[in-house]
Amino acid sequence: MKMEWVASPNFNDRIKFDKPTMIVMHYTGMKTAEEAIHRLADPTSKVSAHYVIAESGSLFHLVEENMRAWHAGKSYWRGCHDVNSASIGIEICNPGHEFGYVDFSPQQMETVIWLSKKIIAQYEIQPWNIVGHSDVAPLRKFDPGERFGWEDLAHQGIGFWPARTSPKNIKASSENLSELLEKIGYDPAAIQQKQQAVINAFCRRFLPEHFVNFASDVDVRMRAQLVADWIIKATTHS
Ligand SMILES: [Zn+2]
Repeated sequence: MKMEWVASPNFNDRIKFDKPTMIVMHYTGMKTAEEAIHRLADPTSKVSAHYVIAESGSLFHLVEENMRAWHAGKSYWRGCHDVNSASIGIEICNPGHEFGYVDFSPQQMETVIWLSKKIIAQYEIQPWNIVGHSDVAPLRKFDPGERFGWEDLAHQGIGFWPARTSPKNIKASSENLSELLEKIGYDPAAIQQKQQAVINAFCRRFLPEHFVNFASDVDVRMRAQLVADWIIKATTHS
């Protein structure tokens, strides 16, 4: 795949991580790719990402992978408070919830798949460490949002998607929902401060078809149990 290099000055050395262990997916939340790339390479904006993927599927490389790009802001995932140091940030062009959220184009998703596969293979990124910005900053962020095709990506080996089980096959969980969300990787402080925002982030990611109509407590709890169980099983076997 052809990549265009557009150097951004907005990066520094990774702190404590010598290589990435996570991928963070974003949408740009801006009207055009040009506008987004301009901002991510502007020294006064103090934001960047390693990659930008335009609606056309074109791929732009802004920061070297061994450097710490500035895309996640104040964030947390599975014990890590410096997600920028731990991750590769991929910005996918979409006007977002503010300017008219649209489906991601098939060409964009093709590039997301190609790039993610390459990064996963190179750094052995684990499926539970491939996340959305809203997963690592649920009190502030909605991206990449409920239209992002996490289930399709999982079928391509990017991230994971626990199979649905019919409700009668799942025993009611006695576990507290907050504990389940924490086991998945969400920030305990955010859960404590505003549990509903974390539930929304979880639904955008793992219950997108329910997101628009608001998932019931039972839906959320069952899905959270499945996702937490999947991660616990995967992490204890790796
Ligand atoms: Zn973002």
